Amino acid sequence: IDIRDDVLSNDLRPDQVRLEGKLGSGQFGEVRRGMCYLTSRSNPVPVAVKTLKNNDPAGEKEILSEASLMKQLNHQHIVRMIGVCKGESLMLVMELAELGPLKKYLEKNLDIRVWHQLELMVQICDGMRYLESKDVVHRDLAARNVLLVTDHFAKISDFGMSRMVDNSSAYYLAHGPGRWPLMWYAPECLYFHKFDSKSDVWSFGVTMWEIMSNGSRPYDRKKPQQILHFIESGNRLNKPRNCDDRIYEIMLQCWEFSKEDRPHFQLLKISLEELYREFLRL
Ligand code: ADP
Repeated sequence: IDIRDDVLSNDLRPDQVRLEGKLGSGQFGEVRRGMCYLTSRSNPVPVAVKTLKNNDPAGEKEILSEASLMKQLNHQHIVRMIGVCKGESLMLVMELAELGPLKKYLEKNLDIRVWHQLELMVQICDGMRYLESKDVVHRDLAARNVLLVTDHFAKISDFGMSRMVDNSSAYYLAHGPGRWPLMWYAPECLYFHKFDSKSDVWSFGVTMWEIMSNGSRPYDRKKPQQILHFIESGNRLNKPRNCDDRIYEIMLQCWEFSKEDRPHFQLLKISLEELYREFLRL
């Protein structure tokens, strides 16, 4: 079926969506806060709406493919899509994560406790474990793409780069480096453009590092070529200040050079939960 018909079967009429202020800017337009009237009887629900600037056809295609992927996902730690709305331009309507990007939250809340950091990691890992089970690779997991609903509830967002993994080859082969978040990418992504859940595991390790580093930028100001050389020579991001050795040990497992040596999200979640329970008792 045509992707457009597929997605628009989940459509909303323009009069069901009321746009309010700006939440952030996306690649093809703004993300705005809004209210969505799901039925004529019920109260409207608060939403986030990805809008398109000047009906850019490339942007339209991106939004539709993002929507068709999101539509297949249903998990508490993944931002849910509510529908697509074709008004003057195409809009992707999602549930609202009131507190916004985790990266900004980390930058503001410098006194965050270890159990709280672990709590968020467990939740992100749980969402990623779900994606892994659905053969979806996210390809852009980073603290900027995790949103907070409350201080203690994280959701993975931004499925603009996400893809279903091809069953026969078990990885997604990308066409080439576009606007790639290189600092979050595993070596096989950079060398061979191959993406699977184990490359998301690498990005998860970098996300853990961001969580333990108050949302700092990984690899300082190193250039992409320097980072590749740095990794190839066996170096890794340093242990964040005051980071528990066992938490750093998990990051290092995520950054094993061969993806076969990295743990699955399933196992990562068990290790993180154990640490979380321990720090909660302290
Ligand atoms: P793009 O992939 O085009 O960069 P994003 O999906 O990352 O767009 O969204 C851009 C910004 O919009 C985010 O950084 C965030 O601030 C805001 N945003 C996006 N989705 C939501 C949401 N569901 N709830 C709250 N804010 C959101």
